[in-house]
Amino acid sequence: MQKLIDLPCNIKPGDPVKVILHKIKDYLVTFIPEARYEDDIYARAANLQAVKSALEGGYGIGSVLIDSNGKIIISAHNSQIQEHRSYLHAEITLLTNFEESRLAKKYMNIYVYKPGLTVFSSAEPCPMCFIRINTTGADTKYCTPGPDDGMVSRIDYLPSSWKEMAMKRNVSIGDCSPVMQKISHLLFYSFLLDNRGPR
Ligand SMILES: [Zn+2]
Repeated sequence: MQKLIDLPCNIKPGDPVKVILHKIKDYLVTFIPEARYEDDIYARAANLQAVKSALEGGYGIGSVLIDSNGKIIISAHNSQIQEHRSYLHAEITLLTNFEESRLAKKYMNIYVYKPGLTVFSSAEPCPMCFIRINTTGADTKYCTPGPDDGMVSRIDYLPSSWKEMAMKRNVSIGDCSPVMQKISHLLFYSFLLDNRGPR
């Protein structure tokens, strides 16, 4: 709770979960990224997706797909709880919605993406999502490390052919401000505020 109060979002002790999340959302909506953190524009967009999920009662993780010009072409959030589906992590939904959209024709070659696309997530992708992203040929960036489940920092544990494929992509933590990193981290753990999720 103290970490939430320390955010520049005017969160007070005793604020209900919904109020906390709305205060974070309001902060993100008016947040103006500084030029010195070149990925904050994507961190803000991914965090807005994360807080959207959290406000729906889901897990606070969001993701955006960026084209080679730096434009966000599609966004998604985790919806496992909302949709009662085990696989609906933010990145999986992002990539599935993208592949099923009209954008696919322009940006895809059979099932692989044309070079220059980047998946930017609020938190480091898990093993399932990291493998899916690598299979598409997209690069991977994220705002905050996944302390328990992040696969990028555990890339050496992949089978050799999967590791080889992953190493062909640009895979890195984004250039994000401390406040965006803190919000990503706290939204990732926002399920602890009310113990949402399966028992
Ligand atoms: Zn995942």
